[in-house]
Amino acid sequence: MPQILDGKIARDFYKKTLIERVKKLSFVPTLSIIQIGDNRESAIYIEQKKNFGLSIGVSVSHIHLPAEATFDEIARIILGENSKSEVSGIIIQSPVPAHLDFLKLVNLIDPKRDVDGLTDENVKLLAEGKPRFVPATARGVMLLLDFYKISVSGKKIAVLGRSRLVGGPIARMLEMEGANVTVCHSKTANTREITKQSDIVIVAVGKPEFIDRSYVRDGAIVIDVGINSVYGEKLEEEIPKRKLVGDVDFGNIFAVVSAITPVPGGVGPMTVLSLFDNLISASLKLK
Ligand code: NAP
Repeated sequence: MPQILDGKIARDFYKKTLIERVKKLSFVPTLSIIQIGDNRESAIYIEQKKNFGLSIGVSVSHIHLPAEATFDEIARIILGENSKSEVSGIIIQSPVPAHLDFLKLVNLIDPKRDVDGLTDENVKLLAEGKPRFVPATARGVMLLLDFYKISVSGKKIAVLGRSRLVGGPIARMLEMEGANVTVCHSKTANTREITKQSDIVIVAVGKPEFIDRSYVRDGAIVIDVGINSVYGEKLEEEIPKRKLVGDVDFGNIFAVVSAITPVPGGVGPMTVLSLFDNLISASLKLK
């Protein structure tokens, strides 16, 4: 029977440490979340972050701007947040409306408050092996592997996806821990060949249930980072019900792997935890 790598159990374990760290502070750190527009999924993720922040005793400020907000208007708000002493972390919830350049906005965040680790300065530091803030999903994956005592040193690991937010930093963190990492992306011709030779396969492509058992060898460990909202079976009234699935076809692959993360309840909870870990670290460095 494969082991389920349960992110909620791991999150609850590490959360206790965060609560202790917050108790030792003489101030309440604030995370500023800037949301532009009304993306449905963003609203859910922000709610999760607010709830988690409250549960560990930090403050979360949600700045919600209309979809038609201009770059200059948003820039003024970001610069304002940079100058508030109580604000230790600032994130811009993605996606942003099409008329805005997400990375240009991100780069206005003070890198010392960039708890998502997405500014050019922080990406460069990670590339050089001196991370200031490891992007939360990458840190979450590393913590999850650690919690389940899965060593990565010397292992062959395939990372599917190379984005600045997810695949890129995951690959970098694994390399820093001594793994032999192969990154696959949309132009990789022999992805299946690479994943079939890998001890661990980490999938962050944003394609619902894309990876099936033809991609993995027996006994492989599969980490599914993907979160996709798809239409499931229809409800009685013929209204399609939405459900969350990963980038991995869990049911198809389950019988052949040795361990796997579920979606939801795998990497997701670890990402929220890691964001607040970064926030506490930022607040200590800023004081
Ligand atoms: P993204 O920016 O769209 O990047 C997707 C990556 O997948 C790109 O690097 C792309 O390659 C690559 N790709 C596309 N098709 C591929 C294929 N057939 N084989 C191999 N690689 C392929 O998405 P993202 O922001 O990295 O997010 C990836 C997934 O993680 C999404 O499902 C997202 O919802 C999820 N996510 C989860 C969490 C969490 O907490 N669990 C957090 C953030 C994101 P190119 O670079 O060549 O285009």
